Amino acid sequence: MISPFIINDTNLLLDRFPLAQVNRSLQAWDAADEYLINHLQQQDLIKPTHKILILNDAFGALAANFSDHQVVSVNDSLLSEQGLRHNFEQNQLPLANISQLNSLDWLPDNIDIVLFKIPKSNALLIEQLITIKKYISNNAVFIAADKAKQIHSSRLKLFEKYLGSTTTSQAVKKARLVFCQLDNQVVHTSPFPTVWPLEHSNFVISNHANVFAREKLDLGARYFLGNLPKVAANDQVIDLGCGNGVIGLSILNKQPQAKLQFIDESYMAIASAQSNVANNLPEHINQCSFNVGDCLTNIDSDSTDLILCNPPFHQQQATTDHIAWQMFKDSYRVLKKGGELRIIGNRQLGYHIKLKRLFSDCHTLASNQKFVIISAIKK
Ligand code: SAM
Repeated sequence: MISPFIINDTNLLLDRFPLAQVNRSLQAWDAADEYLINHLQQQDLIKPTHKILILNDAFGALAANFSDHQVVSVNDSLLSEQGLRHNFEQNQLPLANISQLNSLDWLPDNIDIVLFKIPKSNALLIEQLITIKKYISNNAVFIAADKAKQIHSSRLKLFEKYLGSTTTSQAVKKARLVFCQLDNQVVHTSPFPTVWPLEHSNFVISNHANVFAREKLDLGARYFLGNLPKVAANDQVIDLGCGNGVIGLSILNKQPQAKLQFIDESYMAIASAQSNVANNLPEHINQCSFNVGDCLTNIDSDSTDLILCNPPFHQQQATTDHIAWQMFKDSYRVLKKGGELRIIGNRQLGYHIKLKRLFSDCHTLASNQKFVIISAIKK
């Protein structure tokens, strides 16, 4: 839905992105954005010449408020990047002042103010704090924001450990701010990517900080690996929402002549999938492509024999199945006639009901107490 975001004299219309959302009540900004902007204005912290670094701005609400400044916006999510651009265009704001970087890019060093929406994952939080300390001058102002209930003492200790002296604001509308001096002298090296051995194989899986199943094989993915289809030589296969790429990697191991596309909306996921093929099956890297993409946008219709997917059921902090639904619709378009979409999901998510609406030939291949594996064939 379009949510009006009115602060002081700025009046913006903001969308979550992508636009087709099942839960229409979710909005594109939160009380922590509002608190942060109000605080900056009340304290007059931003001067016209200031260069602002914004991290994890979900749909561009913060950047849009400072669109007349030089802003560098950093995100791991393609959808967040697209959301920012959409909201700028919708509000006729100039994109020329914004540079968008992804979570693996180097940060610029001439930043005056860092605005940090605290990520849900502790691993990404640690990685980003280490990166900020490495690139940003000690004189920069640093303010983080989140729901108050997410700012518990163990998280504040991470700010102390990686940045320096840390204090917090009072809670307003259940949001809180975190203020840090970048005065910590200890130099930390990143513990990421993390690596773990893939069971029943010689593979070692490497995972950047924001990758799903960063510390061990996901239980669903494990069940999926035991229920993968036979693939013919030269089949076109997509690992959709690939994360670290374990599913596609296992297909490639079984059928070394398959053509694999790894797709995910997270930059860190795609970088991890690429290094996992490069390190474990280097002789097959040239028959693989690795794309940061939103579901199967930009993939040709009727082009693919098999799509494998362990769909997401969250976007940012929200639980939602609109991305899974988009993945299923896109899969129907992208599969050749006779091609298969095979998915794994938690039993209670009811994916078979959605899939039956699209694919007449759809059946459960395996299930256990927690998961169900469904095969859908395009007729
Ligand atoms: N396939 C991996 C596995 O089984 O370990 C990861 C599965 S995880 C449940 C879902 C993945 O979908 C995440 O890596 C997430 O980044 C990705 N994802 C979320 N939204 C997406 C979108 N719109 N397009 C493509 N991938 C998306």
